[in-house]
Amino acid sequence: MINFKRADHINEVMSTRRAFIKKGGLTAGGLATATALGAGILPGSNRNSGRQEGMRGFTITKMFIEPINYEMEPFPIALGVMTHLDNALVTLVLENGIEGYGEAAPIMTINGENQQTILGALNSCREFIVGQDINNYRAIAYTLKSAFWAQSAARCAIEMALLDTYTKTLGIPFYSFLGGTETRIETDYTIAIVPADEAKKQAIKLASEGFRVIKTKVGVNLKEDIDRVLAIKDGAPGCGMLIDANQGYTPKTALRFINEVVGHGIYPVMFEQPVLKTDLAGMKFVRDNTEIMVGADESVFTRADAINVVRTGCADAINIKLMKSCIIESLDIAAVARSSNLKLMIGCMVETNLALACAVHFAAGVGGFDFIDLDPSFDASECPVKGGPVYTAPYWTIGQGAGLGFTGRQ
Ligand code: MN
Repeated sequence: MINFKRADHINEVMSTRRAFIKKGGLTAGGLATATALGAGILPGSNRNSGRQEGMRGFTITKMFIEPINYEMEPFPIALGVMTHLDNALVTLVLENGIEGYGEAAPIMTINGENQQTILGALNSCREFIVGQDINNYRAIAYTLKSAFWAQSAARCAIEMALLDTYTKTLGIPFYSFLGGTETRIETDYTIAIVPADEAKKQAIKLASEGFRVIKTKVGVNLKEDIDRVLAIKDGAPGCGMLIDANQGYTPKTALRFINEVVGHGIYPVMFEQPVLKTDLAGMKFVRDNTEIMVGADESVFTRADAINVVRTGCADAINIKLMKSCIIESLDIAAVARSSNLKLMIGCMVETNLALACAVHFAAGVGGFDFIDLDPSFDASECPVKGGPVYTAPYWTIGQGAGLGFTGRQ
């Protein structure tokens, strides 16, 4: 299962960067950050004085990296048609035998990663990760960001596995570690860019299954987009509607679209990423000219991006995705959003229940998410690990199992 052959080839290509991390791993900025946060020791060191008894010596002894591949129903959005899940599984094993799991879910058109690049990045990290003490999960995450800043999905898989092993070691579920008390969260469900009659059929079915919010994709053809939105409202008149253009419109087309939708008496709960991710002025133009809430998704990868949304006043909400921002930095983005009275949304890429579980724990643990878009595309049986939160539409229910709740390989 583990694709060592391909990974080794990539390792050679990446050896310079790996050597850099192996040597010290910290840039000057990273060192300052780690010190300022009281990390105490540098990642890579085995010194661990001052740590609590019982948490001593939780050293990572093994890191396994494997591709995960599933076919899926074609899912067209403004950025292209998704037809496969091509992800990667990270397994970390501690010296005490505790095993934790993480998933990387790349979407080339969103975060510039694909399965080949995540396998390459993950393999390049292995020598640095093995030997680390999981007590230093935050310092490890900062070090990885300082070198692999562009490989967010790959880094997310490592953070996920680190925090899974860490909270398994503590003996508590990840959402409890984050301070949460919710054990059930409700998701919307997304209808892709499909013909209006097909969208209506899906909307009727979703409403009958108990979904209260339907999300739909737009941003390719204005007339077809409006027809699809009307058809969904027709099929599920009682459901809230969340609209996502995935950067597909110009500012003026976005405005024309949303005005026409409102003109039909439809008031979407949010209009997500109407324009190009870098066009914050265009997004502000849309926001300033409609009463519908505008959400920033692709525009926000980092906490600095979140600050820019606040500074420019271009959005009412931020859609956090762990694959864009990783777990540690998503906590900062949530704090920025909360501090500036922005609404919080959580979304996902094309993920198995493993990565979705982490987002479910995150939303339940951090709390305050008004919009939850964590609809699974795959069954629990199509997940590399067993256990985890249980999905019964439209709810995710978290059990009391430690970590993310997964007990082992399927
Ligand atoms: Mn989106």
